[in-house]
Amino acid sequence: MYRSHNCGELTASHINTEVTLSGWVQKSRDKGFIVWVDLRDRYGITQLVFDEERTSKDMLEKAQKLGREFVIQVKGTVIERASKNPNLATGDIEILVSELNILNEALLPPFTIEDKTDGGEDIRMKYRYLDIRRNPVKNSLIFRAKVTQEVRNYLSNGGFIEVETPYLIKSTPEGARDFVVPSRMNEGEFYALPQSPQTFKQLLMVGGMDKYFQIVKCFRDEDLRADRQPEFTQIDCEMAFVEQEDILNVFEGLTRHLLKEVNGVEVDKFPRMLYDDAMRLYGNDKPDIRFGMEFGELNEVTQHKEFGVFNSAELVVGIAVPGGNAYTRKEIDKLIDWVKRPQVGALGMIYSRCNDDGSFKSSVDKFYDQDDLAKWAEVTGAKAGDLVCVLSGETNKVRAQLSALRMELATRLGLRDPKVFAPLWVIDFPLLELDEETGHYHAMHHPFTSPKPGQIELLDTNPGDVKANAYDLVLNGNEIGGGSIRIHDKATQAIMLKHLGFSDEDAKAQFGFLMDAFEYGAPPHGGLAFGLDRLVAILGGQETIRDFIAFPKNNSGRDVMIDAPAPIDAAQLKELSLKLDL
Ligand code: ASP
Repeated sequence: MYRSHNCGELTASHINTEVTLSGWVQKSRDKGFIVWVDLRDRYGITQLVFDEERTSKDMLEKAQKLGREFVIQVKGTVIERASKNPNLATGDIEILVSELNILNEALLPPFTIEDKTDGGEDIRMKYRYLDIRRNPVKNSLIFRAKVTQEVRNYLSNGGFIEVETPYLIKSTPEGARDFVVPSRMNEGEFYALPQSPQTFKQLLMVGGMDKYFQIVKCFRDEDLRADRQPEFTQIDCEMAFVEQEDILNVFEGLTRHLLKEVNGVEVDKFPRMLYDDAMRLYGNDKPDIRFGMEFGELNEVTQHKEFGVFNSAELVVGIAVPGGNAYTRKEIDKLIDWVKRPQVGALGMIYSRCNDDGSFKSSVDKFYDQDDLAKWAEVTGAKAGDLVCVLSGETNKVRAQLSALRMELATRLGLRDPKVFAPLWVIDFPLLELDEETGHYHAMHHPFTSPKPGQIELLDTNPGDVKANAYDLVLNGNEIGGGSIRIHDKATQAIMLKHLGFSDEDAKAQFGFLMDAFEYGAPPHGGLAFGLDRLVAILGGQETIRDFIAFPKNNSGRDVMIDAPAPIDAAQLKELSLKLDL
């Protein structure tokens, strides 16, 4: 028996108990005649004591040689500590050791295994198994397990069936590139790894499964923007005989359940916001509504004067920064530099100070009088003491820029408290999105999303205006889930694919299996998927998903611990009938 107890459970009630513990040496303090060792396992830390008198000299010497991270087993008696440590669950006791077994020695770890470590990100990723011994990472993984357990509880209690779908499939377009796997047995042919189980879950609905979920890996080969992973986990769900309303209710329930069970937070009914309103009021389809600072569109109140920059702009739009009138000229100049950085890309920023006496002072006083500026304040909701910041230009760009500024200022103002949760549904997304580069439309969600009833005819005349039965769940400025009511008849699916630029043959080759299935009694269905990694990070109050993934990849898609991806040898290439052309 390696252990009778773990390192986190012994308290004063165990005094005089004989115990056996196993774990890692966190650290030791050697006073010459007495040695204390902190023994650590997943559950906590227990102090061991060795001294000349009460234990043996031999054992004291052996203890003195213990290095950090040695794996040991001890037997001993629980005794009361002379100086107690109230910060430790086991702080009232220590173990007077009677037997010490070294189970495995350890090299000196390349960074300290402490909550605050001296190891940088790269070295911690290379030795991730050591990093996992640290509380912040260990606790994040335990937290993730709790979230997934609660997901399973809620969905299973709601009658959902967990079904696994294959990883070796063919392309499921979710807007990224596929990772592909060569097939040895089918020369020259490749599987694609699923970008999501989308088509399979729809086929499960055709198969009558009715309510499906799966906690599943998805693979997308995209340039890794900050905090994305090439393989990530979804809580993937689908239901038959449902309308949008049914789906929103079930998954609002799931989110509420998680907030309650995991965070102890009760949230009111989630607000719903039209996509168009989200873009107009927040410049963003995933608005952070923990704070206000809504956009005020200023075209009407700015475009009648001699100020050419505004007159020629498609959109003039501003926000009120609470208390921003306190910024010095220098601070405002810095803010202007901030919006002009290439990452944001604004050409400049106009501002108007709202003075305490009700007067205004703007950077364009030459063009706008006090009455004009009073209207700016009114439209943006600015009060005395605030600063109105105004950007102008092409609508989509300027919205994105002002949204970036809004988030930055809110962060600086401390308005984005990770302990406050503000979920909402964004609904009525456009069906199609124009790709500015190619001039082609592509599916904003994916090609299986159904247009709003009665709008399919619009596809021929105003494709950009067609709205979809598509929705996103947004939490604290992050999209944590998204889905849609699906097309479930072959004719509509064919029209949709045609509008996305698929020829009849291509549509048949890629999605024939799904369209065929639609001809065998496909029920109306819809669903959504949550991004589990991000959801867990937000519930855990953290910015980055990496801490919640046991073995994450770095920004170049590398696993630096196992050193993957890696070349394969010539024999393996031959077996796969592949030749490299580098
Ligand atoms: N498959 C979709 C996605 O990965 C989610 C859904 O429509 O259910 O975003």
